[in-house]
Amino acid sequence: MSLEIAGRVRSAAVRRRGPHVLGVDAGQGEAMQLLDHVSITVRDLDRCRPFYEAIMKALGAERVRSTADAIGFGSRCSAADDGHTYLTVLSSPDAGGDPGRHWCFKATSPEAVRAFHLAGLRHGGRDDGAPGLRPHYHEHYFGAFLLDPEGNRLEAVCHRES
Ligand SMILES: [Zn+2]
Repeated sequence: MSLEIAGRVRSAAVRRRGPHVLGVDAGQGEAMQLLDHVSITVRDLDRCRPFYEAIMKALGAERVRSTADAIGFGSRCSAADDGHTYLTVLSSPDAGGDPGRHWCFKATSPEAVRAFHLAGLRHGGRDDGAPGLRPHYHEHYFGAFLLDPEGNRLEAVCHRES
């Protein structure tokens, strides 16, 4: 799903919390991180494994699970702390890239966005948008786009002023 679309629909509720956090107002004065966990599917996980391991490392997301059928990154939420996002990359025979769909990961710096893009290119991914400012989103929106080895479209973005 596209967070940008969700953000546009709910733009009236979008607000800033502090200098760096752009969130959707959850109604209690809390910034809401809309995605809890996501599964991206690929037909050939072994082909895609080095790509995902490299781009997640570039973004600082720890690999916390690795089996023949799945790799997991990040942290799952708990009752004590629901401020996390968890990504699973799953093997699925029905997987297929859809150019109209993308997943966008948060980066904490433009350098991390550049590292994400370079790591992807070096591990079987294809360029789908070079690292750079996209001021039509906002003046500090620094993003980059990749296709994974099977055509899934991915983005990393840094929203912070740099
Ligand atoms: Zn996007």
